[in-house]
Amino acid sequence: MYHRTQTRPVRVGNVVIGGSDRVVIQSMTSTKTADVEATVAQIHRLEEAGCEVVRVTVNTREAAEAIREIKRRIHIPLVADIHFDYRLALAAIENGVDKVRINPGNIGKRDRVEAVVRACKERGIPIRIGVNAGSLEQHILEKYGYPTAQGMLESALYHIRILEELDFHDIIVSMKASDVPLAIEAYKLAAETFDYPLHLGITESGTLFGGTIRSAAGLGALLAMGIGNTIRVSLSADPVEEVKVARELLKSFHLISNAPTLVSCPTCGRIDIDLIAVANEIEAYLQHIRAPIKVSVLGCAVNGPGEAREADIGIAGGRGEGLLFRKGKVIRKVPEAELVTALKEEIDALARQYQET
Ligand code: SF4
Repeated sequence: MYHRTQTRPVRVGNVVIGGSDRVVIQSMTSTKTADVEATVAQIHRLEEAGCEVVRVTVNTREAAEAIREIKRRIHIPLVADIHFDYRLALAAIENGVDKVRINPGNIGKRDRVEAVVRACKERGIPIRIGVNAGSLEQHILEKYGYPTAQGMLESALYHIRILEELDFHDIIVSMKASDVPLAIEAYKLAAETFDYPLHLGITESGTLFGGTIRSAAGLGALLAMGIGNTIRVSLSADPVEEVKVARELLKSFHLISNAPTLVSCPTCGRIDIDLIAVANEIEAYLQHIRAPIKVSVLGCAVNGPGEAREADIGIAGGRGEGLLFRKGKVIRKVPEAELVTALKEEIDALARQYQET
């Protein structure tokens, strides 16, 4: 099995996918790509949330033409999502896209594949092969009868071979399925078979609630095995939510270096403050902090500081007041009404310290 650190490094703009323990966060816009204003505005929101590579659909000539202006106004690598039409791929490449998601076996005649590969080679642009359980090639479906992990691997190898025959190796592969065990199995087979970096995703995973859980189950299992170099959480929600979920997931496996972690207690009969509201407010506040600090929010002082000894900063509720503590040691008492503000100030101070060092 190829651990993510053993995969081939592939450059996408100024980001390298593969060859290290880094897992790059991706998302995809939901705007019409030809609407440059709306697309750029959404990409800026994604960048702010922590998105490192963004994909746009290129389904029309206008969309391909919009790439140039979008690219000029954003700060992260841009990927063109192409289905079938090699002319749109060529136009997107011509307009400066950093990566193309296209399956070479679906482009058609050999000269068309060669044209796309030549254009990618000239500009140092990688290709992502996107295997999807829902759209396997007819010959594979006929062989297996229905989508299987082995069939998905065969599909990946079919497209990989086409590129390798043209001496093209800047390849990234995804093996998406909406069925979690199928996706896990397919990615495992891929990691056992080739060393191209893997783009993880559970496709059509569902809404913010259900999709987050399914993505965490599937992608979490793979990340724990050391599989995956880039991740896209697919949700029927604002794509900013995808990035937030991806960051949280990577944090769980210590695969992100600049994100804070919130520890909050489940509450019990000992609770002395409105902990759920406090935890939600601090969680939202932490979304914009770029420092690996651990913050603890606990409902009472009985076990509070002791339960969160590992936290850099935290609060524990008391009657009408709370304790502010650092590394398990109480530093001062704060009236309940001022608790959240005091904690935010301490978080800011720690983040500043981190940025200065
Ligand atoms: Fe209960 Fe206090 Fe523990 Fe929270 S910190 S679960 S309120 S004992």
